[in-house]
Amino acid sequence: MTDGKINVTVWNEFWHEQTSDTVKKIYPDGIHKAIGEGLLQEGSFNVNYATLDMPEHGLTEEVLKQTDVLFWWGHCKHGDVKDEIVDRVQKRVQEGMGLICLHSAHFSKIFRRMLGTTCSLKWREIGERERIWNIEPAHPITSGIGEYIELPHCEMYGERFDIPTPDKTIFISWYEGGEVFRSGVTFERGYGRIFYFSPGHETFPIYYDEKIRRILCNAAKWAAPRIQREISCPCVEPLENIQKKN
Ligand code: ZN
Repeated sequence: MTDGKINVTVWNEFWHEQTSDTVKKIYPDGIHKAIGEGLLQEGSFNVNYATLDMPEHGLTEEVLKQTDVLFWWGHCKHGDVKDEIVDRVQKRVQEGMGLICLHSAHFSKIFRRMLGTTCSLKWREIGERERIWNIEPAHPITSGIGEYIELPHCEMYGERFDIPTPDKTIFISWYEGGEVFRSGVTFERGYGRIFYFSPGHETFPIYYDEKIRRILCNAAKWAAPRIQREISCPCVEPLENIQKKN
């Protein structure tokens, strides 16, 4: 944060956009660029991009060291993400880096690693309506968001979502088909903050929506490190002079 801005890295597996004409039309430069565009417009962030095909998936020690908040979008290629990179990202989150996992990243290695549960859910892809209820209007992530947001077309993600009980449930979604879902949830691991946000299927232009972009900017500010410190397990001397009792 040397220039007062938050350094964000947006990671995307970048697969659908290169293999599906439908997705290419909506996100010609990749989902990561659409997410980054929303962050750059707001003005508080420096944005770096990383994709699966890059050496070390674009997440070298150097890149992660300079990243305050990491966004993660993945779907088909979770299994191709190297475990050593997941280890590296996990360590950085524990040391204070923010992590924002989006949509199908519920099944990413890093999200499951951080949460320790299967993160499974119900899903259906028929382009139904979603109403995202803001149930924490005082939380920084919902700043400027009204009582709810409506997306005309979405992929349904329904309960039960197999996650640990969140520190906070920020959004609950209702779908036209009847299901509900904890669509915005926060966790803390080590010194790091984690936000999961479910909207963002690749065949709908959700990352161009101004309210969705506002939420992602709010979340990046909320998740930015407050301290960054290695986690250690030291044996320490007592502060007081303690008489040993035998
Ligand atoms: Zn999807």
